Amino acid sequence: MPNTDLYAVLEVGHDASPEELKRSYRRLARQFHPDANPGDPAAEARFKEVSQAYEILSDPERRANYDRFGADVGAGSPFGAGSVQDIFDMFFGGLGGRPQRRGPQPGPDAEVSVDITLDDAAFGASHDVSVTLPQRCSSCAGSGCAPGTSPVTCVECSGTGEVRRVRNSILGQMVTATPCSRCAGTGQRIDTPCPDCRGDGRVTATSTFTVQIPPGVEDGSTMRLADRGAAGARGGPSGRLFVHLRVRPDPRFERVGDDLHHEAHVSFAQAALGTTIEVPTLRATASVEVEPGSAFGTVHRIRHEGVAHLHGRGRGDLYVHLAVDVPIALDDTSADLLRQLAAHRGEEVRERAPRLFSRRGAKK
Ligand SMILES: [Zn+2]
Ligand SMILES: [Zn+2]
Repeated sequence: MPNTDLYAVLEVGHDASPEELKRSYRRLARQFHPDANPGDPAAEARFKEVSQAYEILSDPERRANYDRFGADVGAGSPFGAGSVQDIFDMFFGGLGGRPQRRGPQPGPDAEVSVDITLDDAAFGASHDVSVTLPQRCSSCAGSGCAPGTSPVTCVECSGTGEVRRVRNSILGQMVTATPCSRCAGTGQRIDTPCPDCRGDGRVTATSTFTVQIPPGVEDGSTMRLADRGAAGARGGPSGRLFVHLRVRPDPRFERVGDDLHHEAHVSFAQAALGTTIEVPTLRATASVEVEPGSAFGTVHRIRHEGVAHLHGRGRGDLYVHLAVDVPIALDDTSADLLRQLAAHRGEEVRERAPRLFSRRGAKK
């Protein structure tokens, strides 16, 4: 995993104080700032990397997460084998870190959106994803050469794959190296192109693969899959694929962090006298005891029936909020009983007559 040590990116030790972090960040940011390195993509990438590392490490909470996660990767990981890279990519989804390399350039990044249910988000799921992207040509294994031929050295860059230029800037002379455009950074030229990909080393095709969505993801979470983006020209590595997760709303629950909230309706009599109600949980139901005299908005907490914590073990809670329904469209018997209740409690209520008048009035 390249460039995953954010401390190394910032050139500090793991026990660096916030002051040290800031100092090192300032120094590196000045060194690699795009204004000081015009037209130098390597410096720009480094600048971004440094900025993003600092963004994470300067936030105590994110730094703690990073420290803990760094130690957690391995056999004891709560996530299934094979998904660690995905998880890791999700943590550092914004990090543009990719080692500078000579030779074939990596393909572009791609993105895809996946709709999942709240259940998928809460418990994790396997999801098939289809993408149509340039992929390595199988006829020439990405080399771009017709079978039986091989490439020759590029004359433009003498086979180095990059072109060096010296430019003057406010900070003095700067040497920049950019990939050779003649050979796309490969250092080689193809005389007899592969007929299937015309020398590009790629053909556009649709591929379907399974993405492991870890439990606890949120609407808007992005997973970054290394090597699932478009293939690079002439055997270059694939770019990254960003998988944006959209969690479909669930009418039963509102999610706040890893907790779920459900509104349970009881009647006025049930709230007054107490009852037992069944409420939905993500995959089953649970009983809630409504105490006599429960007011509107009374909250019951059901532990561990929420969404899994992405960054740790366990799950959030389910909160059941009582909504007390005022009886409407009463039949005569119900209305009479309520009037008796009101009279017994000395409460003043509207007589029946005005309601009849208003009905008759509505007919006109
Ligand atoms: Zn080919
Ligand atoms: Zn070249």
